[in-house]
Amino acid sequence: MIKFLYAFLLFAILAGCSGLEDSEKKKIRKMNAIGEHIYRSHNEYIFPIGKSVRRERENYHWEHAYVGNFHRITEDCFRCRGSQQNASITQHSNGQETHTFDCGGMDQHSLPFKEGKEFIYSALIDLLNYIQEKTQKKVIVTCGHRCPKHNTYSDTSKFNRTSKHMIGAEVDFYVKGLEWSPETVVQLIKDYYREQPRFRSNENFTHFHRYEKDTNVSTLPWYNKEIFVKLFKKDEGRDFDNNHRYPFISIQLKWDRDQKEPVTYSWSQAFNGYLRY
Ligand SMILES: [Zn+2]
Repeated sequence: MIKFLYAFLLFAILAGCSGLEDSEKKKIRKMNAIGEHIYRSHNEYIFPIGKSVRRERENYHWEHAYVGNFHRITEDCFRCRGSQQNASITQHSNGQETHTFDCGGMDQHSLPFKEGKEFIYSALIDLLNYIQEKTQKKVIVTCGHRCPKHNTYSDTSKFNRTSKHMIGAEVDFYVKGLEWSPETVVQLIKDYYREQPRFRSNENFTHFHRYEKDTNVSTLPWYNKEIFVKLFKKDEGRDFDNNHRYPFISIQLKWDRDQKEPVTYSWSQAFNGYLRY
């Protein structure tokens, strides 16, 4: 108890001293302060003042991130959907048991890497933003880039082994609000080529053919020089990434508009063309 009393007394003395000092300083400052008026002639300026003009506010960088009311589709929408939380898949063949594991997703690897940065073909991103802008509805990317591990985990079929998802040249999606009318979206994809100044006078892009060979869909796919479009009905093409109940559209890139060369699957690009963390 006595200790506390001493501590309190010491505190009171110190506080009292500093209070006294402050008021003393203020008093001296007031005594020495001299006030002076600043005189200036009318219209006397050191620098000329320009006439103010009203101008439109420029967008902040985050405002460019929207198409209508929705977030612009960017490379980020294409990140691998793999997760280490997913259980392994066990398969039996010829009396042997094999286990397939999923990848760790975006925490463990990048998107395809090209010229020092992450890369998805811009044609796909442009198309999806066009659809979002025209419909004013949200495009849901169900599958963008798949690393080889997640590609095998999602769909173990042979057909999928050379998927262009692995090189950032394929996308699966549906449009929220148009889930049951994917034909409308296919029509918009065709319209895109008829509207874009760089394509509208080139029949190789504006004219779509139907692909009549055997595929894994019942609707004949459409294609032009740049893309190959498949429509998966609600019971077709279901895999780990497309396990929803809606029809969906897949766009595969055939032609690189910037490099002016065909886009083909390459093993080394698929397996070595991205960074592992
Ligand atoms: Zn992955």
